[in-house]
Amino acid sequence: IRWNREKGWHDAEVGPYSSLSLDPAAMVLHYGQAIFEGLKAYRQPDGSIASFRPEANAERFRASARRMAMPELPDELFLESVRQILAVDSRWVPTAEEESLYLRPFMFSTEAGLGVRPASEYLYVLIASPAGSYFSGGIRPVSVWLSTEYVRAAPGGTGAAKFAGNYAASLVAQAQAAEKGCDQVVWLDAVERRWVEEMGGMNLFFVFGDKVVTPELTGTLLPGITRSSLLQLASDLGLSVEERRISTDEWEKANASGELTEVFACGTAAVITPVGHVKHAGGEFTIGDGGSGEVTMKLRERLTGLQHGHVADTHGWMTKLLD
Ligand code: PMP
Repeated sequence: IRWNREKGWHDAEVGPYSSLSLDPAAMVLHYGQAIFEGLKAYRQPDGSIASFRPEANAERFRASARRMAMPELPDELFLESVRQILAVDSRWVPTAEEESLYLRPFMFSTEAGLGVRPASEYLYVLIASPAGSYFSGGIRPVSVWLSTEYVRAAPGGTGAAKFAGNYAASLVAQAQAAEKGCDQVVWLDAVERRWVEEMGGMNLFFVFGDKVVTPELTGTLLPGITRSSLLQLASDLGLSVEERRISTDEWEKANASGELTEVFACGTAAVITPVGHVKHAGGEFTIGDGGSGEVTMKLRERLTGLQHGHVADTHGWMTKLLD
């Protein structure tokens, strides 16, 4: 779907996967005006196809657009694009448990121009790709590197938007984590470098017995849809939930005292991933026995059960996309 200042949203089309052609002066190539979303379509037991809270993705896409001075794609068009791609060809939605069709909506500026300003032309595109189970051969806890050298987002910056540049800027820290022998980066706040924000592409949860704590939305972390859903599901399971700041110091101390029992990360791609080991410039520690915790697995089962249609959808989170 295209947008320009004169016509607004226009020329929606569905077509075979193909290359896009761009003017070399297209503003996205110079100034990075690009945002995206990530959601999944799940095959239901009756053969129909549904998505998990796609309305929330549509809303977050608009919020990202506002931050980038881009036009907001109306939610109806966002949801219609998702329905259309499945209507054209739904064979790619897997039937196997834990598998899904990953949907990637994105938008960028196509106007040719070398001045730094909001563009007057944009293109919205949706592509899709089958996603296997994130963990082949069973769930494996990840190790994380607490990044104090690099930050992902600063107050007033773009951290709360699903903005392409946030991910480009994270690559060097991810490489550093790999050098340290870790799977993932954990981002800390930009000012004091001690408040835990999120993991690369996932939000974090800390389990203290029957209480779960997740970093509050300060404007520098992405408001994950899985995060907000798990706060509800945890409370449905009788756990108490809290959104507050948590420091790396508290993390290490509560782990040493045994008060902190589990840590996990969550997001659309990996659903829920246990965090087993932590490394930072001053040392390292293992969470619990380094395995997958009970609360983590219980929440994971509830969430995947809901998405694949095996658990009653009491919150009305599943949206049918195709019969
Ligand atoms: N944080 C970041 C930086 C992400 O890219 C994602 C993935 N969208 C998340 C958290 C998790 O968000 P969600 O649960 O909506 O997938």
